[in-house]
Amino acid sequence: MSHCKRCNRPLKSGESIIRQYGPTCWQRHLDDLEQEFLKNQLTIFDILRDTINGGDEDVTREMC
Ligand SMILES: [Zn+2]
Repeated sequence: MSHCKRCNRPLKSGESIIRQYGPTCWQRHLDDLEQEFLKNQLTIFDILRDTINGGDEDVTREMC
């Protein structure tokens, strides 16, 4: 029987067993990940902007 990694309660649904977290703990786990992400001051927008800026440079060089 699988148990939740966070609260150690037995997991009943197949989905929870795959995630290894119950529904409530899974949501908290996602919140934790988000906090970790924010703490590192990395946002998806920063990553996208860097990618786009890099891409623009390459395009300009190709055009010249
Ligand atoms: Zn749990």
